[in-house]
Amino acid sequence: MHIFKTKKELQKFLLSFTKEEKVGFVPTMGALHEGHLSIVEQSKKQCDITICSIFVNPTQFNNASDLDNYPNTLKADLEKLEQLACDIVYTPTIADLYKNGEKAKEFDFGTLTIGMEGEFRPGHFNGMATIVEKFFNIINPTKAFFGQKDLQQLQIVKALAKQMESDIQIIGIPTIREESGLAKSSRNELLSTSAKQEATLVYKCLKYCKNNQELAIPTLEKYIQEQFKNNTHFKLEYIDFVSLNTLLPITKWEAKNQNAICIAAYIEGVRLIDNIIL
Ligand code: AMP
Repeated sequence: MHIFKTKKELQKFLLSFTKEEKVGFVPTMGALHEGHLSIVEQSKKQCDITICSIFVNPTQFNNASDLDNYPNTLKADLEKLEQLACDIVYTPTIADLYKNGEKAKEFDFGTLTIGMEGEFRPGHFNGMATIVEKFFNIINPTKAFFGQKDLQQLQIVKALAKQMESDIQIIGIPTIREESGLAKSSRNELLSTSAKQEATLVYKCLKYCKNNQELAIPTLEKYIQEQFKNNTHFKLEYIDFVSLNTLLPITKWEAKNQNAICIAAYIEGVRLIDNIIL
């Protein structure tokens, strides 16, 4: 496994590959868990060379303490990637990617950024798109892999690739969950054992919707809001039923697999997000 700390070294190494070789790119912020690793595995299956980046991107954090508390487990991360035989790891410094004082670029993703994370994490998607655009320009992968766990991010990255008029294929990878149904996340490690158990409410609600699609959306929405109201440890931030393509709210189901239900909620001060596509 090759580890590069600068874009210069990485790009020099990439010159040794031919145009026919498919390059897969998996961007991460480290603190790797099975969710990340399943994405690396998919890239390995679909591509000849897999590059995983580990970079905690400062411009996508709208909350300074969230950035300060972001876990750094680089040594363990590299061991996990080595075990999967990941070909290249790119671990840049901020200075390798941003000029001094450089801020996030302003993007226009239309309706995709209006609600949900766009509403509750102002500036987050401009920061995310800024770094993803930089990565795409540095690496120019054949395919880039993103988790469906961050569904809004996935849809925005697809829009970004179009805006860049790039041929990079954006591949969404299903969410990996604990046996309890809780979506794997580096933030889960901040939860007490009892909160981890209670946190399964998020996926239980999503599954309830999946199993009761004959009910009207407003009825399901009310049911979920009540579940969270009845649990004093949880604070529901949003529960949104949206159209997958526009991410705009819906009150009636669209065609199969064109609907998404997205939840963000706090427990023990930890913000969890999850979604389901129906
Ligand atoms: P992050 O390190 O949080 O920026 O995540 C890196 C990538 O892993 C993103 O594309 C996420 O959507 C994805 N990811 C995070 N958690 C999971 C999960 N539980 N299952 C699958 N993919 C995930």
